[in-house]
Amino acid sequence: MFHSDRLQPCRYLQLPEPEFLSRVQPRPLNNPRLLQLNQPLAQQLGLSERDFDGINFADHLATPSLPEPIQGFASAYSGHQFGQFNPTLGDGRAMFVGEIHDLNGVSHELQLKGSGPTPFSRGFDGRAVIRSVVREYLASEAMEGLDIPTTRALAIAISDTPVFREQPEQAAIMIRTAPSHLRFGSFEHFYSRGMLDHLRRLSDFCIDHYFPECRTEAAPYAAWFEAVVQRTARLMAQWQAVGFCHGVMNTDNFSILGLTLDYGPYGFLDQYDPEHICNHSDGEGRYAYQRQPGIGYWNCLCLAQALSPLLDSTQIENALAQYEAELQSSYLSLMRAKLGLSDSTDTDKVDADNQLIRSLLDLLTDQPLDYSRFFRGLSYLHQPEPPTDLDDWLIQTADPEAVKRWLSHYQQHLSHYEQPNLAAERADNMAATNPKFILRNHLAQQAIEKAEQGDNTELERMTHLLQRPFDEHPRFEQYAAPSPDWAKSICVSCSS
Ligand code: AMP
Ligand code: MG
Ligand code: MG
Repeated sequence: MFHSDRLQPCRYLQLPEPEFLSRVQPRPLNNPRLLQLNQPLAQQLGLSERDFDGINFADHLATPSLPEPIQGFASAYSGHQFGQFNPTLGDGRAMFVGEIHDLNGVSHELQLKGSGPTPFSRGFDGRAVIRSVVREYLASEAMEGLDIPTTRALAIAISDTPVFREQPEQAAIMIRTAPSHLRFGSFEHFYSRGMLDHLRRLSDFCIDHYFPECRTEAAPYAAWFEAVVQRTARLMAQWQAVGFCHGVMNTDNFSILGLTLDYGPYGFLDQYDPEHICNHSDGEGRYAYQRQPGIGYWNCLCLAQALSPLLDSTQIENALAQYEAELQSSYLSLMRAKLGLSDSTDTDKVDADNQLIRSLLDLLTDQPLDYSRFFRGLSYLHQPEPPTDLDDWLIQTADPEAVKRWLSHYQQHLSHYEQPNLAAERADNMAATNPKFILRNHLAQQAIEKAEQGDNTELERMTHLLQRPFDEHPRFEQYAAPSPDWAKSICVSCSS
């Protein structure tokens, strides 16, 4: 990677120091070695395995300076954390190392995460542990496989450098990529300081590089803010439909591009539970599963305030007003796809489909049933020859009569509202939208335990399954099984 001539300085470096960024160098690690390389992503970036061999990647992590011409830096940002504004955040354990144009001409910033302290570390060590980078790697590739906008994970290096959390652990580094790592909090940073020229400069930078289509609009800032609100609403609908809980939806963890960003104590739903709290440190459930869409809106309000010097009140209201509509229509369309229902604006069908979805969520809540497995089972239902273990997918330990009642309601709904004779097509479409493989905490745990012994076989296998979660992968049925009871005791919190 480091001698790859594809690596360019980040365009973010066009913004002035020290207000926007601070130059940093990685702090060396003991005995760093490459644990995992994301081959499909490396290929997309035009990098070869040779770019990641010892000399070019891990060895550089053992030296105190990045080779010329790499210019490492950390960016400044602020953010609302659990509702409270914190004016001094910034990349405390991440540093930018450059930017690469992929084979489609799209640019991607590369960050090292866990490379040591920066001026924004606030007394923390700037490190990441194996457990946290493996979880981020798996989650970002799972989201990519599910077609949900996300940052990506390019590689992991592990080391013998000790890091102290609740107990000693090993330091690790992940390379993360995204077209931009700008956050809502990047804009709040300059607004809260009254640095309005800097706010405008950053907004122009963001529009010119990432929202060029807004530049030609009559009111570019308004068009851009509207686009961010829409992307955020759509992302929240995608999280809800797939059963993803982020865990720390602070505005510094909200991407201006509408990407899923900063994977910490996230979780995918096992049993459907609207109140589910994935982050052990979130006692009040501010970021509980069913609160996510509301928090997405709240975060857009914070962004609106930060951008208020660039927008008038009507522009702000008009943009914010689109959140709910975008959320509802995206969610309806995603849930329709999960149930094999066609899209239609006919109000009778919209109402009836919404009722069917509601009745299913009530059923899933009452029983409770495994969220992902139930939908996967529904797609098998329409196959010409449903699998012999279909009941395992659909009914499990729940009250079978209640499930059967809902299933017959569902079949009636289909025969009333949908075209007849499309069962086979429906089965295929549903299988392409209801994943068989979901990243469950106990699976991540297995990959972590192996990784801590320097063994990436589980990580590699899971990445392979999660990057193609809609395929059957018949040799790996055990990875599609419901979570075992012991998994409930896995505790994930912010201390990663
Ligand atoms: P997070 O909750 O992971 O989004 O982090 C919130 C803030 O704390 C960000 O500014 C991080 O860069 C910073 N941070 C988190 N962990 C560390 C660490 N181990 N060392 C330094 N800064 C950290
Ligand atoms: Mg994809
Ligand atoms: Mg963060």
